[in-house]
Amino acid sequence: MNKSALQYLKNHTIRNLTLTDSLSDSDAEQETLRLFVETVEQAPIAISITDKKAKILYVNEEFCRVTGYKPADVLGENESLLSDKTTPRQMYHNLWRTISSKKSWQGQLVNRHKSGQRYLADLTIAPIVNALGAITHYIGMHRDITASHEAEKKVINQKLLIESVINSSPIAMVVLDDNDRVILDNQLYKALVSDLDKSEPAHFFLRLLRDEMEEVWMDLQDHNQGFTNREFRVETKGGHGVRWFSCAGNWFIENEISADAFFADNQKKYLILTLTDITKQRQHIEALHIQTLKTLMAEDERVRSIRETLLGAIHQIQMPMNQISAAEQILLHKRDEKNTHLINILQQIQKSGKNAVAKMQDCVPEIYHSAEMPVNLNQILHEVLLLEAQSLLTHNIEVQWRPLADLPNILGSENRLRILFKQLIDNAIAAIIQADNPDKQLSICTQTEADLLYVRIADSGNGIPADKHSKIFEPFYTTNKGSNTAGMGLVIAKEIVNQHHGLIDIDREVEQGCCFQLSFPLHKNSRREVSHD
Ligand code: FAD
Repeated sequence: MNKSALQYLKNHTIRNLTLTDSLSDSDAEQETLRLFVETVEQAPIAISITDKKAKILYVNEEFCRVTGYKPADVLGENESLLSDKTTPRQMYHNLWRTISSKKSWQGQLVNRHKSGQRYLADLTIAPIVNALGAITHYIGMHRDITASHEAEKKVINQKLLIESVINSSPIAMVVLDDNDRVILDNQLYKALVSDLDKSEPAHFFLRLLRDEMEEVWMDLQDHNQGFTNREFRVETKGGHGVRWFSCAGNWFIENEISADAFFADNQKKYLILTLTDITKQRQHIEALHIQTLKTLMAEDERVRSIRETLLGAIHQIQMPMNQISAAEQILLHKRDEKNTHLINILQQIQKSGKNAVAKMQDCVPEIYHSAEMPVNLNQILHEVLLLEAQSLLTHNIEVQWRPLADLPNILGSENRLRILFKQLIDNAIAAIIQADNPDKQLSICTQTEADLLYVRIADSGNGIPADKHSKIFEPFYTTNKGSNTAGMGLVIAKEIVNQHHGLIDIDREVEQGCCFQLSFPLHKNSRREVSHD
């Protein structure tokens, strides 16, 4: 310890020490003083003692280490010797105003090391008052916090960098804690809040992901394994458009930073969820899909028209065949010699007729059947509306499409259901065109109630008279006498509905136009589609 400092402390500091009774002799006083001086001298913080004008009277070892100055360099000098002069003047004003009013001041200043190098000082200055309450000295204590400040700034900069990277990302991102609380998100994610009309889109997608992945979700979460390419169809507000999102997720572990967990090895698990809008790609795929469907449906229509023609012909042949059979029965009843020849001829005709019918039946082509699977009727109706887009536009028909949000699936054949709805919508368009109603409207909606899914297809055409309601599902019945329709469309429609264990009927309550109501049982493990209204 330097001698002047020791002298100074002896002269000034000893007065403020309270000695215990047991240490009242001068040896004990000396011992306490020595201990006190050593403590200050070796304290691991830069300590300086100044007079009222900041003239340095004492510095400890740590002060010399931090500033680079030896005691001889600074004793008698003003503390401003340490100032880098980049500290704003206002700081000094505040500092002096505080300490002059007998309060401690604490703050950060830029100091200059003897070598000229700047460092950041975390400084506390406390006034020392005498017995009369007047300030006699100041004690300054400071630490070089350059390294921790730099580290802190680095973390902040890294955070800003990460934030700006994720904000400029073309993918919506959100970080959730293990209670599904949003911890961090980016601009694109925030935009989804209004776009999808959901207060927290992440919760919405989490529900879909968990529903779809079930126990796989838990498994991945437990093993911190991610997932990718989980695609969801989202009906936007009012059913005016569909958006597609591809979801990917990754779990990561973070060590707890709170003081509570300082000695514990607490970890927190977070999920980073990314939501990529793949609507454009999907629209492209959908356009190709619709093109393929158009070809398939055209082929299907061709097959159906051959079927209808052959079935019509069989139906037509059946009538004279029945008459011949009736005639044969009559002749058999009053059998005599001269009738035998005629009976033989009739039997011959019947045999050839049956052969012809059998041959024709063999020629009736089968309709292509796709395998049964969970089917989303919103998707099927959406596709059929796209297939009909040209026709709807040409005839200026306004479509009111109201799909139910979160529509559950039914179990069925996509292909057959497409044929069913295409038939019903074809009929509706034809009815709208023929009607004299200038208000051309086609309205389609999906609903659920209990375990049933309902589809309603209503048109603004002339409707079907009540006395014909029971006939329309009969083969070869048509209300369009002049048209070239064979009257088999609704027969096939009913057959398809039956195959799906559903019901189809006309809503008799509707006054204007015609409304078909269909109901289907819901598929038990239904995967949900997403839509918003
Ligand atoms: P100065 O002219 O010294 O002062 C700036 C302003 O402070 C002036 O406008 C004036 O209003 C006010 N002021 C200055 N002296 C007094 C006073 N005696 N009474 C009332 N107001 C006054 N500064 C550092 O930069 N680094 C340090 O590590 C540091 N440690 C200090 C430790 C102690 C114990 C004390 C008492 C002061 C310390 N200071 C420190 C402050 C230092 O004394 C200077 O005030 C400061 O460095 C600014 O110096 P300057 O020459 O630029 O301006």
